[in-house]
Amino acid sequence: MKADDGFGPNSWIARKARGPMGLLYMLSAVLSVVMTGLVYLFVCLKAWAGAFGVGSITQYVGAINNLFLGISTLIQKLGDMRANATFLEPYFDLLDTPNNMYQGSLTTEKRNDRQYEVEFRDVSFRYPGSDTYALRHVNMKFRVGSHLAVVGMNGSGKTTFIKLLCRLYDPTEGEILLNGIDIRKYRYHEYMDIFSVVFQDFKLLALPLGQNVAGTVDYDQSRVLDSLEKAGFSDRLAELSKGLDTSLYKELDAEGVEVSGGEAQKIAIARALYKDAPFIILDEPTAALDPMAEAEIYSRFNDIAGDKTAIYISHRLSSCKFCDEIAVFDHGQVIQKGTHESLVADEGGKYYELWNAQAQYYTEETSD
Ligand code: ADP
Repeated sequence: MKADDGFGPNSWIARKARGPMGLLYMLSAVLSVVMTGLVYLFVCLKAWAGAFGVGSITQYVGAINNLFLGISTLIQKLGDMRANATFLEPYFDLLDTPNNMYQGSLTTEKRNDRQYEVEFRDVSFRYPGSDTYALRHVNMKFRVGSHLAVVGMNGSGKTTFIKLLCRLYDPTEGEILLNGIDIRKYRYHEYMDIFSVVFQDFKLLALPLGQNVAGTVDYDQSRVLDSLEKAGFSDRLAELSKGLDTSLYKELDAEGVEVSGGEAQKIAIARALYKDAPFIILDEPTAALDPMAEAEIYSRFNDIAGDKTAIYISHRLSSCKFCDEIAVFDHGQVIQKGTHESLVADEGGKYYELWNAQAQYYTEETSD
């Protein structure tokens, strides 16, 4: 172990232990030894002078020692608190990060008919600190209940498009409208309620499976089971002896289970389904999957999306054939829109080019 790493003799932790924390520990140790001596002396002298019988010495010494033990523990705890506060500082700094995003005050209408219409109107976007546009003049209207696929090469702006839709960033130019009103005017948390998103870099926690799906400690068990089934996780669930109470991973529970990339993805999809929002967005949901698992997710897509407005991002075109509409992104722009049949018929178009470039790969690796 190097002398200057976290736990070495010259590390900052060791220096702290020698500083304020060490001082408090030393004080508490010295105090308890000195006080015990004084207590014995005092009580014995009193007994000797005839204040009480010799038999009471133990009782008095015990009582007073207990009192000082309490005081010394208290001082030790103050030392611990002081030392640990240093470690907590970065977390509090992070939690205190100011949110500079404009917070609107409109409430999003709670609609049972799920008639939420979102429109991108001439939206352009540059990431903070970047000179180049990641999106350029994007116009798009999502039809309620339709299933839209967003395709394009890596770096063409697909994920950025979703990030703007979910208001992780605000457009540099143009506006995004929900039922005709700029999304910036809505309360952020209420706006987020209408989206279920599975990003590529989703995270599962070392907690029970049911809690991972629901995102809460108390959940509706039948809905969690239903979501897991729709996401194709039922077979694996049947193998788990503790069912929804099975912990994922072993960090907090030695009996926890490790899940594969594909299984993790299904759990993440189940989490999105449990939220039951009007929009469901899957960002490259099959990127981590083997061809078999990938084909399974495609075949379930219509089940998964149901009557929701669904957006499905992929750079594999075969996974998008079943969508009502396909938008082709290229260098931050939407260059083509239409159904698979109409796009593949346009021999001069990017979609045709991508489709043919990938066609051989599909016939080899997937069974569609
Ligand atoms: P896709 O999802 O189609 O692969 P992205 O939306 O991730 O594409 O990226 C679009 C462009 O934006 C790329 O040129 C990428 O380098 C850039 N980009 C993505 N994320 C960031 C970021 N956080 N900061 C700066 N540039 C970014």
